[in-house]
Amino acid sequence: MKLSSENLHCAARALLVFAFGAALSWLLLKGAAYPVTAAEVLSLAAFLLLAARAPAAVRALAALVLAAYCLYFPVGLRYGIVSEGQIASALATDAREASEFFGTFGALDFASPALLAAGLALFYLCARRVRLFQSRKLFALALVLAAAAAFETKAFHPFTHAAKLAHRVVVERGNLKHMDWTPAWKVLSVRPAYKNYVLVVGESERRDYMNAYGYPEDDTPYMSKAPGIVYEGFTAEGDNTIPSLTRTLTLPDPKSLQPRYEYNLVDLARAAGFATSWFSNQGYVSPFDTPVTAIGARSERSRWLKFGRDASRNYFDYELLPLVEAELERDDPRPKLIVVHLIGSHDDICERVSDKLPRISHVKDPAWRIPGCYLDTIRQTDAVLERLSGLLQKKGEPWSLLYFSDHGLTLARRRGVMRLLHSPAGREHRDIPLFLTSSDAKEHRTIRGLRYGSSFVEGFMEWTGVSTRSIPRPKSLFLAPPDPPRPEAERLRASRPDDPPADIQSH
Ligand SMILES: [Zn+2]
Repeated sequence: MKLSSENLHCAARALLVFAFGAALSWLLLKGAAYPVTAAEVLSLAAFLLLAARAPAAVRALAALVLAAYCLYFPVGLRYGIVSEGQIASALATDAREASEFFGTFGALDFASPALLAAGLALFYLCARRVRLFQSRKLFALALVLAAAAAFETKAFHPFTHAAKLAHRVVVERGNLKHMDWTPAWKVLSVRPAYKNYVLVVGESERRDYMNAYGYPEDDTPYMSKAPGIVYEGFTAEGDNTIPSLTRTLTLPDPKSLQPRYEYNLVDLARAAGFATSWFSNQGYVSPFDTPVTAIGARSERSRWLKFGRDASRNYFDYELLPLVEAELERDDPRPKLIVVHLIGSHDDICERVSDKLPRISHVKDPAWRIPGCYLDTIRQTDAVLERLSGLLQKKGEPWSLLYFSDHGLTLARRRGVMRLLHSPAGREHRDIPLFLTSSDAKEHRTIRGLRYGSSFVEGFMEWTGVSTRSIPRPKSLFLAPPDPPRPEAERLRASRPDDPPADIQSH
């Protein structure tokens, strides 16, 4: 009788300690900002209860994970699950940014990691005294099972996720250390025809899915009719953002086609006396996170919507418009170059579709949902272009707008679902739109030809009226004779399977 009451007492105490552990686990997981489930909380609590009596190595490992959860707690409550941008900002020693980040924190925010740690220490002292198993083998088995359950329910996911992101950031930073250069441009003359130049860099939009290029859906009502030139034959230099844009926004080496950052478009505009700005809806990790960011960061004014703490929020491209408007309104006698880098049709494509802009997809088949979103994002990019031209028009100064996309995508069925992929790439993957409009354009026309991304900077010079020692008489992107076909580019194209535009809306 006495024994049983003692057992009962023990069980009650174990249950109480377990409940305390569960409450702490719930708080920790809540702070790690992962959708918290009961199974996750209970499995983590069970693991922690057992780990208290586990060998020192297991306890040390658990302490490491818990310390990370405690420290991230006030951040996670505000900003959600840890993002690449946060890690990069934390790694970069930018005091201003750090003070901005912590500026919104109250005393409780700063104290909360210590309070949680104190709670965990108390829990540990209690849990040390809870002996659930007499047999060491049974204990080891229970510990392994609890750890497996915690993994299975994703209780450790925030930690492993953060570790993976941190690894990626460190590797990227290492790769991009050499991203510092001295501009090599020698400007000869500057005769801009307009006051305001807007260059829109689109994302993942393939021209044969655009009505302006004959796709039989009304997904580009603006570009299909606006006065200006639609160029059919612009060809991306890569299948992904970085290989394409580094060779399009710089004057690549003519033989190797390797990007030459010292000959980039932003430094050219600056050397030519333009007021330069860069507004991006693409991720920003650090000034060196991607070569494209490094080029953008050369601008006098720049802004990345997804910078640092805002990195986890999903921004829509139209949210760039106020930045452009403010830059247009800013008093400056110099001609302005405003680069707008859209997120466009970037993965996850359906996440890019806004309720605030027109949509056209009426796809019913769930397997075709993503291609339907693709048409919506093309439609919405067209709406953003139209609004940009509206802002330029409203400003009342001579303006010109140039738009292209970095690369296309390739349609493929994966696990029963139609997706648009970067690889394996089809023949049309690098067929991208190129569109020009301006305050003095009178009629809408289409020009067919061949123009590689590597010719872009030269065309940019012609557009902005800048000549340099390396290119004294730049050729027009639109009116110059087509580029001679590059054998390796043509071979690559021919080797790829045909991927004609699909009839998405019939699904
Ligand atoms: Zn891209």
